[in-house]
This record gives sequence, C-alpha cells and structure tokens, in this order.
Amino acid sequence: MTLRGRLTAAFLAVVLGPVLLGAFFVGSTMAAVDRSRATERLGLAAAGVRTSVDALCQQLRAAADAVALVTDPAARSGAAAQVVGRGLAAAVRVTDTAGRFTYATAGGPAEPWQDCSGDPAPGGPVGALAARVQLRDPAGTDLGTVVAAQSVDPAFVARLAAVTGVAITLLDDAAGPVRVTHTTENREVRAAVLAAADRADGDRITETADGRYVRRLGPSPGQPLPLVLSVPGERPPGLYAALVSAVVLAALLAVLAAWRLARATTRPLMQLAGAVDRVAHGDLTARVPVRSRDEIGRLALAFNRMTRETGTYVTALTSSRDQLRGHLAVLGDTLASTHDLERILRVILHSAIAATGARAGAVLLLDPDGVLVAQCAEGLEGRWPVEDPADPATVRVPVGAGVIGTVVATGEPLRGRWEPTATPTAEPLCETYVAVPFSAPGAADLGGRGGPDRPGHPPAGADGDGGAGGGGTLGVLALYDRLGGDEFDDDDLETLRTFAGHAAVAVDNVRVHEEAQRLSLTDPLTGLWNYRYLRESIRREVERANRFGRMLSVLALDLDRFKDVNDTWGHTAGDAVLVEFARRVRGEIREVDLAFRHGGEEFVVLLPETDARGATIVAERLGAVVRGSPVRVDSNGGEPVLVPVTVSIGIAVYPDHAASGQQVLDAADDALYAAKAAGRDGYRLAQLPDPPPSQEIPVVAGAASPPDGLPRAGAVDAAGAATGGASSGPHPPRQGRGR
Ligand code: GH3
Ligand code: MG
Ligand code: MG
Repeated sequence: MTLRGRLTAAFLAVVLGPVLLGAFFVGSTMAAVDRSRATERLGLAAAGVRTSVDALCQQLRAAADAVALVTDPAARSGAAAQVVGRGLAAAVRVTDTAGRFTYATAGGPAEPWQDCSGDPAPGGPVGALAARVQLRDPAGTDLGTVVAAQSVDPAFVARLAAVTGVAITLLDDAAGPVRVTHTTENREVRAAVLAAADRADGDRITETADGRYVRRLGPSPGQPLPLVLSVPGERPPGLYAALVSAVVLAALLAVLAAWRLARATTRPLMQLAGAVDRVAHGDLTARVPVRSRDEIGRLALAFNRMTRETGTYVTALTSSRDQLRGHLAVLGDTLASTHDLERILRVILHSAIAATGARAGAVLLLDPDGVLVAQCAEGLEGRWPVEDPADPATVRVPVGAGVIGTVVATGEPLRGRWEPTATPTAEPLCETYVAVPFSAPGAADLGGRGGPDRPGHPPAGADGDGGAGGGGTLGVLALYDRLGGDEFDDDDLETLRTFAGHAAVAVDNVRVHEEAQRLSLTDPLTGLWNYRYLRESIRREVERANRFGRMLSVLALDLDRFKDVNDTWGHTAGDAVLVEFARRVRGEIREVDLAFRHGGEEFVVLLPETDARGATIVAERLGAVVRGSPVRVDSNGGEPVLVPVTVSIGIAVYPDHAASGQQVLDAADDALYAAKAAGRDGYRLAQLPDPPPSQEIPVVAGAASPPDGLPRAGAVDAAGAATGGASSGPHPPRQGRGR
C-alpha cells in the first residue's frame, strides 16, 4: 500500500469514525427519548381510559341501583324508562332469579354486553358495557337482577380517544386473534398498529415500522374492554435519512480532503525522491521546489542546501585535484630535469603542503655531524625558535631532540598536536604536526660511497651520512598546522610518506650525481683533484682573481728521483709514497687552496689570493714537511722500510708571471725545471716575463697580511670571497685543514 493510500485511509478513519459515532449517538438518543415520551403518553392515556370506563361503570351501577330501589314491580319499569330517558343508561333489563326477563326497555345496544365486573363476555364484538345489581325485597329476599347498559359504539370509542388524546381501537375478543370492533385509527396505519398489537403482551410497548407506539390495555379489573392504544412517534420525519445523508456527505468530503492532503504530502516526497535519484546518478544540479515553510518545505530546503554544498565541495575537490595534478607535474619535471637539490626539495615541500592542506612545512637533512639542518621551509617565518628565522639553514635540530629529532632517531613517523601549554623548544610555534623520515634506497652503503676517498678527507666510513639517524635516514619532511585546525590524519601521513619517498630518491640521486662528478674529477690513488679539474679550476680562479683584483699563485711539484723509488722498492711502494705525499700536502694548505695530481709524480697546488711571498712560504713548508720524515712503506719483500723523499717546486704568480691560466701553469713548470736544475729539493720563483704580461691586474690597495702571516692579494673580505669560490662549481671536496 502506498503512502498516499495509507494517509487517505488514516484520514478517513480519523474523520469518519467520529461522524459515524455521532450519528449513531444522535439516532439512538432520539429514539430512546421518543420511546420514553411515547411510553409516558400511553401510560397517561391508559390511566385516562381506566378512569373513563370506571366512571361509566359507576354511572351504570348507580342507574341500576336506582331501578332496583323501586320495590313496586309495576313502578320499576317506569323508573327504568326514566333512567334511560335521562341518558344515564342506554338500556335497562330486569330479570328474575331464574334469569328470565321481567322487564326490558325498548331497543338498546346489541349483544353481547361486557359486564363491568370484568367477567368475560360470551364472545363476539362487545355491544355495550353493563353494570348489574341484585334486586331484593325489603326482607332481603333475592328477587333477580337489574342490569343497566351503555352502548360501546364508534362514538364511545371516539369519545375515549378524544379524552385521552391517543388513537383507540376496540378489539372483538381479548383472547383470540386481533380483530377490530371499532377504531379511531387511520386507515393507513391501522394494519401496522394491529400487527404491533398482536406482538404485544402485557403492558409492553411495541413500535410499528412507521414509528407509532402501540400498547394493549385490558381487559382487566376495572377496565374490562380489550383496547389497543397508539400514539405517533415524535421523531422528526426523515431523521434517519438526514443522519445518513450527513454521514455520506461527511464521508465524501473526507475522501476529497484526504485525497488532497495525501497528494499534497506525497507529491513533494515524490519530487524529492526523483531529485535524490538524479543526485545518485551524479547530477548535483538537482533541486526541488520549496512550496511551503512546513516540515516538507524544510526538508526540501535542506536537500537543496545539501546538493549545493556537495556541489561546491566536489568543485573544490576537483580543483584541488587539478592543483595537485599540477603540483605533481611540476614535481615530476623538477625531478627529471635538475640536480639542484634545494630546488627539488622546495618543490616537494610545496607539493606536500598543497596535497595535505598544511599551512607550513620544512625539509631537514641530516648532516655528517648528526645534526638536522633545514634545507627549505614554507610558512614558518617568525615561527622557528632560532636566531635567523628567515634562513632555513640556521635551523639546526640535534638528532633525538623534539619531534623532528625523535622521528629521525627512531625512523618512525609522528603526528599529533602540541598542548597549548607546552612550549616546544626544538619545534616551530605550531599547533598540529606530522613528520616523516626518509631514507635513501639501499641506504646502508651510502656512507661508503660518500666517504673513504674524498679528496682532503680521511676515510669516512665511521661517521658516514647514515651514522647518526636510524637505518640510513637522510632527513625528515615535516608539515605543520593543517588548515581547519584538525590534526593530520592517517591519509595525510600516507601522502607525506609518498612525498618523503620522492625526497629520498631526489637526495640520493643528487648525491649519486655529485659522487659521480666527484669521481670524474679526482685521482683515485691519492684522492686529490685530477688534471681535468685542474684545467677548470685554473680557469675559474684566474677569472675570479681578475674580477676581484686578487692574486693567484701556482705551485708545480715533482718528486725527486722517483724512478729510483720504484726501481728500488717496487711500484707498490712508489704508490704508497705518492699517497703519503698527497696527505702531507693536504695537511699543509688552507681550506681554500686546491691540490691536484697532474700526472705520475707531478702535482699542482693553486693558492687563491696569494702573492709570491705567500707562495714561497707555502713552498718552503711543503718542502720541509716532505723532507722532514721519510715515508714508511712495505718493500718488495714485505719488510717495512723508510724511504726518504724530497720534492722540487716551481712557483708562478698570476698576474705577475703570466696573462692566462695556461701561461701561469707553464711558468710554474719552467720554475720547477729550474729548481730541478738547481739540484732538486728546493723551490724556484718564475722569472718575470720580458716584456711583462699584457694584462695588468690592479691589486687592491692596502693589502695586508692576515695574522697567520700568509700574504694575501687584497685583504678586503678575503675569507668570504674565498669561501664563496670554494663552494662554487661541482661541489669540490674541501681540501687542506682550514688554516
Ligand atoms: P727527477 O724528476 O728528479 O728528474 O727524476 P725522476 O726519477 O722523478 O724522473 P722522471 O720524472 O723522469 O720519472 C718519473 C717516474 O715516476 C717514472 C715512473 O717510474 C714513476 N711514476 C710515474 N707515475 C707513477 C705512479 O703512478 N706510480 C709509481 N709508483 N711510479 C710512478
Ligand atoms: Mg716527473
Ligand atoms: Mg720526478
């Protein structure tokens, strides 16, 4: 059954039930009232009939008495005639003891006569009512009876009816079937009244189909006539018809109203169902008309608002998906096209922030000292508890400190919310956070790749990159303050893991790339820069010396009589000497200086911002440190031997001795040749060219030797410029001990 059907049925039940009940109540109440009033009227009429009949009997008895009082039989007839003449009786009869008439007035009503005493009449329609008295002589002897009678005719019945106000019917016989003697009943209702009278017994009141109430009366002591009394009901005619019509009309109206109500209720629901169906098929433009402000109207309003909000939400989702797609495209391009680690990490961070809806974030990488150093940050200006919040590199978090340090120490990601009261020390001032560590694929061998043969560094396996963090961790990607104030959830964590994976691959790629580049530029035996890098370095250093008006010194070194070392102690011992020589050279030069293996046992050292005096001092020191202690090597036979080594050094200074990089190298070579020629184990300064080099380089006025005694060309911010130079190019490993 549909909702409309149920609503209609319920409405009908609610409306028609009371109408029917009311109609029934009205009908039954009126019937009861009518019946009780009729009962009352019939009771009153019965009493009236009894009184009238009784009065008539008294009158007849008195008349008979008057005749009986006349002792003279002859005069008795005269008395009887007088009684009749006065109308006290219709007839008088005098009988003797044997029952024979001794006198009777002429005429008189037809037989049988009903005696007032109530003795049943001999049968047939009653002709008269009669009273009988004993006739006695003065001695009291019974002489017979005197009977006085009055006609019971239609006029008598009509009079009774007139006196009592009801319709009266005199029956033939009290005992037998109902037959009418006289009646005042209308012809139309007579049959119905008689039928009702036939059903009646005692004083019970019966009712005819057309609403008359009928009661039988007598014969009984004091009222010997068999009578039927009837009164019409007082119900308004057509009461039941009116009631039925009212009910039918109410039913019709109820059906109509129920149908309209059910339709008004279910139609918006049907429209809503249709709209929901459209939404289910993806049409978020579906709306339903709002016709009223009732509950259904509010439902429609809520539905419209829901679809509108959902539409907005879907649009936002779509655009954020498109945005994310854009970010991923940029990320992919960046990963594929560059080895600029900082830029890659910036793009990864930006994409991660966009994907998770964070307000801020940072990428920190683990440096070899076990400290996390921020590479890039977004949205954290003024929120880091550090001196220079603008520079991410000043953010340094020790492993194990705070959330970020813990994440790196344990290798497990963390997410959550800082209690407002807690003041995080190693964290930015944010409310919510999520931090994910990232490790290089195959991180275990990363340290090995980065360490042992770095120019200028001792083998670094022990404190390799992965040493400080858990399981080869490279760094951590952390985001802060999710938009909307909620905590970051597991989905965010998963997203961040993806980006952290990208970061790990990127860092690893860049390091591999750097390593490959470094390998292509270093000498595998000594770890010093190779000839290839020398060419590039001399070009760069000359250019810089030009730009800043500084000097550049070049030392050319060649081990003395090295052939003999090989010949005496074997080639392996010669190699060991070369390695030790390189180590000593590295130990004697500054961080900004560069040492190269030119080939064989020939080396070059570049001393930026160093004039001839400074270069001479360095040459002297190098000669001394090589000469100072023989190199301990294993001989051919495996026995350790001490090999004395010396070196010859040629010095040339740019721009004093040459006008280009190649020329200054050549000049240094010439000076080396001169040093060899001069007996070896010494240095020579190149000859000033004649004519002097065409390119004059202005040396900064006021150049002064720094406290370490090394002369410098141009003292203005010499250290800063030197540092800048050393970090340019393909990240050449630092050399020297940083004097
Ligand atoms: P000087 O320079 O003093 O004139 O004499 P020298 O013996 O060093 O002469 P020269 O420069 O001609 O000899 C270079 C020798 O260095 C030749 C070669 O045996 C040796 N040598 C070159 N490269 C290597 C190397 O990689 N390992 C070893 N063990 N020896 C090398
Ligand atoms: Mg040589
Ligand atoms: Mg030599």
